[in-house]
Amino acid sequence: MSAIILDGNKIAAQIRSELAAEVQALIAAGRRPGLAGILAGHNPASEIYVRNKVKACEQLQIHSEKLTPPDTVTTDELLRMVHELNARDDIDGILVQLPLPAQVDSKKVLLAVSPEKDVDGFHPMNVGNLSTQRPGLVPCTPSGVIEILRRSNIAIEGRNAVVVGRSDIVGKPVAMLLLNNNATVTVCHSKTRNLAEVCRQGDILVAAIGRTGFVTRDFVKPGATVIDVGINKITDKKEFDKFFTGDAAREKSFAEKGSTLVGDVDPHVAGVAGTITPVPGGVGPLTIAMLMANTVKASKLRRGGK
Ligand code: NAP
Repeated sequence: MSAIILDGNKIAAQIRSELAAEVQALIAAGRRPGLAGILAGHNPASEIYVRNKVKACEQLQIHSEKLTPPDTVTTDELLRMVHELNARDDIDGILVQLPLPAQVDSKKVLLAVSPEKDVDGFHPMNVGNLSTQRPGLVPCTPSGVIEILRRSNIAIEGRNAVVVGRSDIVGKPVAMLLLNNNATVTVCHSKTRNLAEVCRQGDILVAAIGRTGFVTRDFVKPGATVIDVGINKITDKKEFDKFFTGDAAREKSFAEKGSTLVGDVDPHVAGVAGTITPVPGGVGPLTIAMLMANTVKASKLRRGGK
């Protein structure tokens, strides 16, 4: 048996094309959505993420701007920037790219973002909105997970969902969204006992752990849906061989680049699961698509729409 592979790129493209129509309607009404990103200092990974986010905005004709304070920026300076963006009517979404420089009080800065412009969905007000099923902004990667399930016609209601990972950014909001969609949810973490056995109860298994290929075949109920949120880069050939021996396309790209991306799920799980998301090309592409969706949603919510 080999699992059906869910194509995250295709689903993200579908979402972007729906958003394009919504953005055009907003522009026609004189309300172009706007997103502002704060990129403090010079973190190469953050620079790539922010560049991709700006590019996604341009493709959809969402107004975007990037503020780039230096590495030496203080908490007070960042707070001032956030307050100015909060006050601007043409900005619907504010994202503060993490990590911030070490001297900055990140929690204080994130808390200053107006909940109605909090397109990352990290503000405690939005966390509360999600857990009490009120309208609000939901973190991007978790809502991407739900979009993948929904758009692939994978039923959630009444099913056992197991989430491995309880971070504020991924694990907890994914669990809450699954619960809000009427799954019976189990949340696992580093102190969970008999982890593989608990995971095998899952009709839907979500891995958000940050450990390369951690979820192996013995964690998976035959036929289950496995959603792999993890993104881990490997450069070691021995580790590569453990996961990808016999995969000609991967071998070619590894030989060329000297690295490849692996999720938190061992790719051999595809031999047991019914449906699985690949890495790369699974959950990853949904994250930016949902950021765009949140910007459009923020624009509408701020103006009293749905
Ligand atoms: P995180 O904050 O490090 O949280 C990891 C979670 O996994 C924690 O709750 C931890 O448990 C749990 N865990 C760690 N080791 C475990 C073990 N041996 N057994 C069971 N649970 C264990 O990570 P994160 O930010 O949630 O990210 C998770 C993964 O998703 C990473 O690979 C990250 O790169 C990826 N990610 C992808 C996207 C995307 O766009 N696709 C976005 C964000 C993150 P404790 O709480 O007990 O420590």
